[in-house]
Amino acid sequence: MRIAVYPGSFDPFTNGHLDILERAARVFDRIIVAVLVHPSKSALFTTNKRVKMISEVTKGHKKVRVVHFNGLLVDFCRQVGACVIIRGLRAVSDYEYELQIFAVNKQLEPDLETVLLLASPQYSFLSSSIAKEVARYDGDVSTLVPPVVAEELRKAFNPRRGKKQESAQ
Ligand code: ADP
Repeated sequence: MRIAVYPGSFDPFTNGHLDILERAARVFDRIIVAVLVHPSKSALFTTNKRVKMISEVTKGHKKVRVVHFNGLLVDFCRQVGACVIIRGLRAVSDYEYELQIFAVNKQLEPDLETVLLLASPQYSFLSSSIAKEVARYDGDVSTLVPPVVAEELRKAFNPRRGKKQESAQ
């Protein structure tokens, strides 16, 4: 069984992330989405919330499991028996960072492979930050993130707008 780990901050999970996940699921037997507990990054959503949202988004996908992790990615991969790390590549700007992570992981665990999937053209400019920025100013994020995430962004940035609409119904 070929187990792959798809690690990331996923703050929040976007349609670009989902696209990479679904494409990886066609190649590997099981994908573990590993939500990174990032001590140095200030996140909009708590780790638990991010895990919950991704679990909801991927609940129809039998091959996918969602967990959080801290510590070294290579240790986590060893623990779960993964042979591959999946990462997405949008632009040249991603490449340098991905190359750095790859080099470190390869040194720490030579048998662990990294597979970089190129972003689909329609998502190549999409990031969690862009989705948050649009949501912050009450823009339409329905093409950027799954509906579950869009609702959580709305609650995080515009809680009153939702309540008004709900009470008007
Ligand atoms: P990190 O903080 O680890 O970079 P992210 O949540 O930003 O985590 O992204 C996780 C992975 O998904 C990274 O490999 C990133 O390059 C990739 N990714 C992010 N957005 C997209 C997208 N729109 N299309 C394809 N891959 C993406």
